[in-house]
Amino acid sequence: MNKTCRTCGLEKDVESFGKGSDYYNDCRICQQKKLGKPIGNGEDELYLHRKDGTMIIVYIDPDDYEKCSIHKWCFTSGRYAGYNYSGRMILLHRFIMNIHHLTGHSILIDHKDGNGLNNRKSNLRQCNVSENAINKTKLSVTNTSGYNGIEKYNDRWLAGITCYGKTIRLGIHPTINEAIKARREAELKYFGEFAPIYHEQLILGDKDIL
Ligand SMILES: [Zn+2]
Repeated sequence: MNKTCRTCGLEKDVESFGKGSDYYNDCRICQQKKLGKPIGNGEDELYLHRKDGTMIIVYIDPDDYEKCSIHKWCFTSGRYAGYNYSGRMILLHRFIMNIHHLTGHSILIDHKDGNGLNNRKSNLRQCNVSENAINKTKLSVTNTSGYNGIEKYNDRWLAGITCYGKTIRLGIHPTINEAIKARREAELKYFGEFAPIYHEQLILGDKDIL
């Protein structure tokens, strides 16, 4: 069922007017604007308003904007956008890919660049559980080097990688950078397109830049 917004004059699905849609003459986008809390830029950015008054920008594709404007998005788990659906958090990246509790529990949606706020479809992909674990760049609590798969070994550095539950040794290296280089080469070899993306460059010599 459609309804015409009093402010923008656009005809929209009643869902776009929010809960208790009979009560509202303005669509949710216009309601938020009047509150001084715009839902987004009307094109490819959604704004998450936090309690402390700050705002977080989430990037989406323009063809997802209308669909996303129906819900009230908030910042969740320290890295994602989500909305509360009867006490259940629906995450924006899953909503965009149409994978949620109703359509698929076991399917994971991964952010290719590791940025949970970049929800353009070109940055989202479906993956299985192992692949998702691979792309995780967060360090385990027992890590002593500050780098995944690198451990201090006396005064040298031990590199390793775990792929599908199997640990592969990548040797003992005199410097941490050499251990990191071995690890990153192994990530590309074993993880392929699911290897983590590093924004800082590792410089070993004139030639070796990973
Ligand atoms: Zn409107």
